[in-house]
Amino acid sequence: MQSIRWILLPLIVLAPALACAPPPPAPAAPPPGLLQGALVDLSHEYSADAIFWPTAETFRLDVVASGMTPEGYYYAANNFATSEHGGTHLDAPIHFARGRWTVEQIPIERLVGGAVVVDVSAACAAQPDYQVSVADLTAWEQANGPIDEGAIVLIRTDYSRRWPDADTYLGTSARGEAAVPLLHFPGLHPDAAHWLAETRRVKAVGIDTASIDYGQSSHFESHRILYERNVPGFENLTNLDRLPARGATIVALPMKIKGGSGAPLRAIAVVPPHGSATGR
Ligand SMILES: [Zn+2]
Repeated sequence: MQSIRWILLPLIVLAPALACAPPPPAPAAPPPGLLQGALVDLSHEYSADAIFWPTAETFRLDVVASGMTPEGYYYAANNFATSEHGGTHLDAPIHFARGRWTVEQIPIERLVGGAVVVDVSAACAAQPDYQVSVADLTAWEQANGPIDEGAIVLIRTDYSRRWPDADTYLGTSARGEAAVPLLHFPGLHPDAAHWLAETRRVKAVGIDTASIDYGQSSHFESHRILYERNVPGFENLTNLDRLPARGATIVALPMKIKGGSGAPLRAIAVVPPHGSATGR
């Protein structure tokens, strides 16, 4: 107690002098950094309502404890279970390419970087089986400049607005193998996947539908083209309408599952103050 009083005393004496002193200089602008700008959440919530592939086990949360303990404090804990490929998730390249990266092997610099947002929402509203073409990508470049090597390319269909209604998001709410041929939603055409990987050497490709390949795909060519080249995928993203065509930085970090072919993904975007938002 004695020592605290000795510390406080000089501060109290100094206080009137400080009150008369000129105001401190305004803080310098923070140095440019990764997190400078508005943050946008690109992940859906994981719950029993989250949309999963018709053949994949859905997300489950089991309450282990929730309430007051005999000792008089509150305590909550749960177990959860999920398949890798459901809700907002990462596809590791090994998902469709033997010998390519598993989740924990993907260098984190491949999951963080500048984003290019290709808005094909108008075409997708008119055609649920729409496949994003090379022409869509070159039209984007005409309007916005070249897609840089190492860009993270995000395909905006606005299907995320249909979440979590499986009938309109996937084309069916049926479950099991028999539901797979009933899937209808937009995706990336294999020629466009090849063009992005080979001519633009992009880091990663994401989309706000359930799959990089469109719903009617049976051979998943775009998955195979990208993952063979160790280009990871992000699926079931949301809020892409809040991002500018270029200028946002993406941080897309999955649960680090050793040997995983995919994993739940918490993805965010940092939108600089002067980005030209394409949004709502
Ligand atoms: Zn997947």
